[in-house]
Amino acid sequence: MKVLVVESSRFHQIMISQIFNNEGLVVRIASNCDEAINALENETMDFVCTAFHLPCGLDGIKLAQLIRTTPKTKDIPVILLTSNKIDSSFDYAYHSGVTEIYNRSDINALSKDLKKSIQTKKNEINASVLFIEDSKTVATMMTRQMESMKMTVEHFFSAAEALEKFKQSSITYDIIITDLLVEGALSGMGLIREIRKIIPDRSKLPILVISGFDDVTRRIELLNIGANDYIVKPIVKEELVARLSNLVTTKQLFDQVKMQQEQLFQLAMTDQLTGLYNRHSLVQLLPKYFSHSVRHSTPLSLLVLDIDHFKQINDNYGHSKGDDVLSKFGQLITANFRSEDLIARYGGEEFVVIMANSNNDDAVEKAELLRTHIENHLIEGLKITISIGVACADSHSNFELMFNQADTALYHAKEGGRNRTITYSSNETVIQ
Ligand code: GH3
Ligand code: MG
Ligand code: MG
Repeated sequence: MKVLVVESSRFHQIMISQIFNNEGLVVRIASNCDEAINALENETMDFVCTAFHLPCGLDGIKLAQLIRTTPKTKDIPVILLTSNKIDSSFDYAYHSGVTEIYNRSDINALSKDLKKSIQTKKNEINASVLFIEDSKTVATMMTRQMESMKMTVEHFFSAAEALEKFKQSSITYDIIITDLLVEGALSGMGLIREIRKIIPDRSKLPILVISGFDDVTRRIELLNIGANDYIVKPIVKEELVARLSNLVTTKQLFDQVKMQQEQLFQLAMTDQLTGLYNRHSLVQLLPKYFSHSVRHSTPLSLLVLDIDHFKQINDNYGHSKGDDVLSKFGQLITANFRSEDLIARYGGEEFVVIMANSNNDDAVEKAELLRTHIENHLIEGLKITISIGVACADSHSNFELMFNQADTALYHAKEGGRNRTITYSSNETVIQ
């Protein structure tokens, strides 16, 4: 795909070329209007991207006007680059035939937009489609069209069969295209209702309806029950392509935003060094454990684990070695406890584990298993030990109280010589 860049400054020529090349666009340079006109006469361009000021009789807008009035070039989109703020003073540029105006500082965005519009022009939409149409002729024509656009199409003559496939399939479809009147007990309308029971959110899975009916009432009905868009038979290829492209692009952008949100959420909830939950997420997730324990009258235990003399590891082997030990320790705790237990790095070299459905004996058994494993194995080539304090919930427990109890027990473990597990006993005072 070729872009003609009309630009007199050598610096800008190189910069724009580089950015466009990175997006896979082929660039032709014209330093003035004559070169531009010459290039347009001799080569087929997909876009023209011109500076406003040009070293010839024409400026970028006049060049756009010329391109629009020349039969051979009248359909080529013209992008105008400016260093000025884009406001209504540029309206005359649009009237003169400029397609879009970009600020020079937005060349990267322009480059991406160009690539996208070229893909749309090529009609390539990487998407997976569930397609329901009972007319063999229409189905063949549309499937062929969609496959030529690089879409993967699964076609069904009946809505009921398609629904069954949809429910059982592990494929995440990007769009459902359904005829309104289809053979069998389930109509296109019924299918939309069923799909929306499973995925109510239209941006997660768009539905495009095709139908022979073209009345407003029916169209409104369809949109109300959950269709995203509507297309009338006989299908016009360009309309199908445009609507499909709009729906799928929006859906895929939505997926991308959702994924980024989840990544950000994960980032905020986890400790970067160990991959465990951080203190913040521990506090967020705790209520679930306490309410479950109260509701089902099940035991709940809390452990505070602390690496002994960790400061010496940093002092003797460096902070980075200390980090390696912490990271490995995080893996060992994860392997030692069950997936339903909540494990968090509470701070520094101190970790908290909430064990659901576990009484004191269960908690001590698990704690001792980890403690003795660590005592008997080198971690990152070093011999380390840990101390553990355990507390168990009673009917008045809350996190703060349990944490303080386990921390008191941990204090006794350290006092008693470290490398041991101690359970908090109710006849001692909690260290606040
Ligand atoms: P004790 O047996 O009493 O627990 O002694 P300790 O040395 O383990 O405890 P102390 O609280 O005196 O020291 C903890 C050390 O942990 C001090 C701090 O620099 C180090 N530390 C805290 N966070 C990190 C971290 O993310 N990476 C590394 N490498 N060290 C950390
Ligand atoms: Mg320590
Ligand atoms: Mg500590």
